[in-house]
Amino acid sequence: MVDLCSHYRRFKPEIDLAVNEVMEAAAFINGQAVGQFAGELADYLQTPHVIPCANGTDALQAALMALDLKPGDEVITPGFSFISSVEVIVLLGLKPVLTDINPYTFNLDPDLVRQTITPFTKAIIPVHLFGQPADMDPILDLAAAHNLQVIEDNAQSLGSCHISHDNIRRRTGTLGAIGTTSFFPTKPLACYGDGGALMTADPGLAEKIRMIVNHGSRIKYHNELIGMNSRLDTLQAAILRINLRHLDEAIERRQQVADYYDRHLGGHPAIRIPTRSIYGTHVFHQYTITILEGNRDRIRSGLQEAGIPSMVYYPVPLSLQKPLAIFGYREGDLPITEDLCRRVLSLPIHTEMTEDQLDHICRTLLTLLDHEA
Ligand SMILES: *Cc1c(COP(=O)(O)O)cnc(C)c1O
Repeated sequence: MVDLCSHYRRFKPEIDLAVNEVMEAAAFINGQAVGQFAGELADYLQTPHVIPCANGTDALQAALMALDLKPGDEVITPGFSFISSVEVIVLLGLKPVLTDINPYTFNLDPDLVRQTITPFTKAIIPVHLFGQPADMDPILDLAAAHNLQVIEDNAQSLGSCHISHDNIRRRTGTLGAIGTTSFFPTKPLACYGDGGALMTADPGLAEKIRMIVNHGSRIKYHNELIGMNSRLDTLQAAILRINLRHLDEAIERRQQVADYYDRHLGGHPAIRIPTRSIYGTHVFHQYTITILEGNRDRIRSGLQEAGIPSMVYYPVPLSLQKPLAIFGYREGDLPITEDLCRRVLSLPIHTEMTEDQLDHICRTLLTLLDHEA
């Protein structure tokens, strides 16, 4: 699905040099590169504060902790996503309110969000899924009208832009009170291990988040809050500084792969290619097709037999994951999510793909689709 080895080989001289510098300085925790990277990412995103942390899940947890939510408060988040947002909501004693999505964009549907708001709702965590923003204008309007905090989970879409109704472009992750992201090796901006960050424009929140990820302290051994131990280590920061410099180029390469798939797969009646929304740019973290006719799992096995990897993001709605049973969700609660979990298929997409590989994937997939018909 991704080719991390080729990626490393392409940037090996730069990366080896940066890693060696950290090793020589032996400043493994909070070394120079951590602050440098945070500043450079803030510039890239055009946001005042970036606070690095250990991973994207911690970033979401620290964000919720910074907003002072109380046990029982409700937090709205999509049912079609990775588990992280729900996990931290539950860990903090809050109530996850899972909402169905728009089947074309795979992102939160603002009309359905409106229907799930109650007097207990305190926050919304939209996830910018697969590389493009959720429909943020109406979500931000709803949040303003109901006095709700917005935390954007930007783990899959760092580098994409949201385009507002008045045509203002802003990087995803900088629209809500807090944005969070992950630098897991397969994410759009990746390191070679775990890493994450939070972004905010609010200096008070920034200071609080800095404390939360550092044991609730500003001054060592003086703890003001219950916090976490969540740091980005210096080696990963040094690697991220390099990958950030190449991020736009990497996005462009993935967009070229997506264009190729669109040209060769678009128009086939048995599938829907990814919908590019009008309110954002797409960095194609995933290229996810929807199988409208035919058996998704059989098609996936056929691809596998031809040596082509593919993945199902996501096979199970969050509402039907075992640990969520305590909240009383049932089959049928999120019909669009449940249907998509049976139909979606993500194809390989990364910066190292060749035209030969793309040609092989498209030909094989089209043949398999014709067999299904
Ligand atoms: C990867 C991911 C996370 C979690 O990031 P980690 O760094 O693995 O903790 C959270 N949300 C979404 C949408 C993700 O894709």
